[in-house]
Amino acid sequence: MFYDRGMEAATKLSLLTDHMGLEPAEDADLQRPVGGRPSPGQGPARQLHERAPCGNTPYALHQAMDTLTRSGGDPAPTLEAKKHSLGVSQAVMPGGRRIALLKTLLTSACERDCFYCPFRARRNFRRATFKPAEMALVFSQMHQAGVAEGLFLSSGVAGGGVRTQDQLIDTAAILRGRLAYRGYLHLKMMPGTERDQVLRSMQLADRLSVNLEAPNTERLKRLAPGKIFFEELLQPLKWAHELRQSLAPERFGRRRWPSLVTQFVVGGAGEDDLEILSTTHALTRQLKLGRVYFSAFNPVPDTPLENQAPEDPWREHRLYQASFLIRDYGFELEDLPFTSARRLPLDRDPKQAWAEENLAGVRVEVHKAEEAELLRVPGIGPKGAAAIISARRQARLRDIGDLRRLGVLADRAAPYILINGRAPAQQMPLFATPA
Ligand code: SF4
Repeated sequence: MFYDRGMEAATKLSLLTDHMGLEPAEDADLQRPVGGRPSPGQGPARQLHERAPCGNTPYALHQAMDTLTRSGGDPAPTLEAKKHSLGVSQAVMPGGRRIALLKTLLTSACERDCFYCPFRARRNFRRATFKPAEMALVFSQMHQAGVAEGLFLSSGVAGGGVRTQDQLIDTAAILRGRLAYRGYLHLKMMPGTERDQVLRSMQLADRLSVNLEAPNTERLKRLAPGKIFFEELLQPLKWAHELRQSLAPERFGRRRWPSLVTQFVVGGAGEDDLEILSTTHALTRQLKLGRVYFSAFNPVPDTPLENQAPEDPWREHRLYQASFLIRDYGFELEDLPFTSARRLPLDRDPKQAWAEENLAGVRVEVHKAEEAELLRVPGIGPKGAAAIISARRQARLRDIGDLRRLGVLADRAAPYILINGRAPAQQMPLFATPA
């Protein structure tokens, strides 16, 4: 029932891509602002051009998606639009490099019935399935033709999580072995993946992920009542982390172990930001996850949640910012500026909100501050803090221009810092009305 024998590989990839478009993005450069687009007339519009820690601005994402949509509708679609229709899009790799990534599934058939998912068993649409050898060969050909430089491979669950994971592993093993593929490979781990399968997947992939979807058991019941939070989803991530710590990758012919990531659907289960960020904090500190992805809930037709309102994409954006504060800036959960409803404010960057409350009247002297203190200042990120520390060993920083030359967003930092004991002159915002 699951196999469409004789269907062309390109047709299958296009069919899979149609529905992947409804799935949250991972490794993605262009994250679709699902659930309604921020626009200058709606919501916190003044921050549309603010750059998120994920590297994009909501406005740029909006524009990119519009361009893609328009080019897809042209009578002569561009090469990029054709690649996109097969599931290839630009993605940012863990080290920051951009590549053309094929993001696809081994099968869009699924025996599970998660309430939010476009692939759920009871949803009526045309499915497509690849066998492992077929998928490996198709991707290898795309790679050799220069169409795709990396592969993100997931799957619906068909025949149980363990059997499906075996199929994903088989695909990866063929690629790495017979087809001698050495490029980027992100493998999903299915619900219920066994420990041995986790280790085998670690030997083959550059990145492994399990979608937790919700921050705890209670919330998961509202999204995917058939999944078991600890045993099926969290356990494979815990095994992967334990294996990374206890086994040297060189023993398995690898220079390093894959990074681990997960993803939450935001706003689908009535959860608040404190719940999501508590779990994010634990995953980041205890399991050293490389990244947590957030995807604002957007209802899919013909699912039990189809009438539920979409989540505001700004909530997703603020959660990304807060997760980067936890991962890269040393923020603890209690530092984050939660409202009484246990949400992050939507109208302000959480780091800015923290600084307004905690640095007002207590400026940070850039010549004396520790790295951790510098990282609390808006406009100073890990690279900027390292550059300041290195530069001040060589010579005294004189003014805001020196900080700007070091890559600091100096105008943002100016209200919170001292340079040589003096508050730096702040530039008036362009077009500001003098008070
Ligand atoms: S198991 Fe995965 S693919 Fe299947 S319905 Fe649930 S979320 Fe969708």
